Amino acid sequence: MADCLFCRIVARQLEAKVVFEDNKLVAIHDINPAAPVHILLIPKKHLGSLSEVSEEDVELLGHLQVTASRLARELNLESYRLVNNCGVSAGQSVFHIHYHLLGGRNFQWPPG
Ligand code: AMP
Ligand code: ZN
Repeated sequence: MADCLFCRIVARQLEAKVVFEDNKLVAIHDINPAAPVHILLIPKKHLGSLSEVSEEDVELLGHLQVTASRLARELNLESYRLVNNCGVSAGQSVFHIHYHLLGGRNFQWPPG
């Protein structure tokens, strides 16, 4: 999608600090980190949010979680959060599905 921020990052039309990339997703450093480690895992396929996924996305979402686990291991994170904000009230601000990998500090529960 031409007017989608993360599609433009995926297409390398916008600069980003890329941590990892394969044929299904790109992982970048968040521009406004909320923790010492704050990586965004962004599927290359444009889906507006988690509410738009279907059975055909099972492999993609599984791959994303396995990749998040591997990146956390490589970064020596013992504890971390993998967060998806779905919808405005949940804090979603970019409407291209993505997961936040957050680590390097203590987190509260329940989240704010
Ligand atoms: P969310 O609020 O869950 O939709 O998350 C969007 C995230 O994208 C926020 O944490 C922003 O800081 C981050 N973000 C916005 N623009 C950029 C950008 N150009 N490069 C990297 N991260 C970005
Ligand atoms: Zn997009």
